[in-house]
Amino acid sequence: MTDLTQQIAELGASLFDRRLTHGRTGNLSARTGDGFLITPTGGSLRSIGELSLVSLAGEHLDGPKPSKEAFLHAALYRARPHAGAVAHLHSTYAVAVSCHDGLNPGDVLPPLTAYYVMRVGRLPLLPYHAPGDPALGPIAERAARDAHALLLANHGPIVAGPDLAAAADAIEELEETARLWLLLRDRPVRPLTPDQVRSLS
Ligand code: ZN
Repeated sequence: MTDLTQQIAELGASLFDRRLTHGRTGNLSARTGDGFLITPTGGSLRSIGELSLVSLAGEHLDGPKPSKEAFLHAALYRARPHAGAVAHLHSTYAVAVSCHDGLNPGDVLPPLTAYYVMRVGRLPLLPYHAPGDPALGPIAERAARDAHALLLANHGPIVAGPDLAAAADAIEELEETARLWLLLRDRPVRPLTPDQVRSLS
């Protein structure tokens, strides 16, 4: 097992054990010279073995059949040349938010905490597409040019980061902030002010 494969396997098991995704949902990838390594289709993040190698154009190059959401990872890598890893989960609270009506599609969650602002920032909502529908690829690629975290409507979050640890930190922060936002739904909330947000960048 290469270092990168081992890192992905350890992260997958950790996310699964903490119930940040379930069943055979979720996929993780990391950029390599030729494209990116991604978890295969039909597997669980709980026990990741061999990874699939996919090109930035989304072609399957080597290894087992890749996740059918590999085209979304490819879109984020193309949009963000410095992204080294991408994580996609069906994490409960972020998925719950993604099913809400009346969200701001330009930025779903308010800046509730400094850590959310620093690790996630703006969170655009992408319109619902059936799992694996390639029509979502160009939409995700366009949105990812200005945001490293995206929320897929009625589906879940996908987040790019400079490396696996950063992508994991961001998607976990997103999940916790989605949970806070739902907890606070019926209460008056004072998010950070624009000045407070600016001071963090
Ligand atoms: Zn998914």
